[in-house]
Amino acid sequence: MNKTIEHPDFETAHPQDILRWGWETFGDTMAVVTSFQPTGIVTLHMLKQITKRMPPVLTLDTGLLFEETYATIKAVEAYFGLYVVHATPTLELEQQAARYGDKLWERDPDTCCHWRKVIPLKGALAVYNAWTTGVRRDQSPGRANTPFVSWDERTDTFRICPFANWTNDMVWTYIYAYNLPYNPLHDQNYPSIGCRTCTQPVADGQYSREGRWANHGKTECGIHDLSVSIEPSNP
Ligand code: SF4
Repeated sequence: MNKTIEHPDFETAHPQDILRWGWETFGDTMAVVTSFQPTGIVTLHMLKQITKRMPPVLTLDTGLLFEETYATIKAVEAYFGLYVVHATPTLELEQQAARYGDKLWERDPDTCCHWRKVIPLKGALAVYNAWTTGVRRDQSPGRANTPFVSWDERTDTFRICPFANWTNDMVWTYIYAYNLPYNPLHDQNYPSIGCRTCTQPVADGQYSREGRWANHGKTECGIHDLSVSIEPSNP
């Protein structure tokens, strides 16, 4: 079932107004899903201006994140006075290795992402009606048509992308203006940061996500590709 929901035209709206609409529409049934990249941190800062009661903040913790990312999560928790929920895979790394062989991400990153990101997202969103994410149209050609609000049948939720038409420069201008914490890897040519096993720095002129799964021609983990199955039985 493809659900729709009425909302204002967001093409010229400020992200904070879109977040306010999300909060007023869904309240506590809206979660913030973030990997603590700059747009996610700006999301938290804007929400803090909207409500003293921050919505639940979830992160997909594959067990393979950079140490710098775990440190950033702690810094953000302290800065905003919140507790981040780590959504973890049901398949431990050892179980994954026993089932598929060691270093699955080197041979079959789609299956690895499926178990470590896509399935956990479904579990994490089970009690929510909506979630916000920092997906932007300028991040890759595949994200160029990102809508502000879309129905995700796989998780039975509305996905809200308040920053869909913001640029990388706009996000960083905000981060610097408010002196917000951010992942130090961004200062080492890592514009997009995922698992340490699948993330490389990029060269000037590359899209921000070209450092992700660089040897596989893969640009998405699957949580934002609504055509990717989210069921545990697949693959
Ligand atoms: S980003 Fe790499 S290591 Fe992380 S879940 Fe996906 S394939 Fe596995």
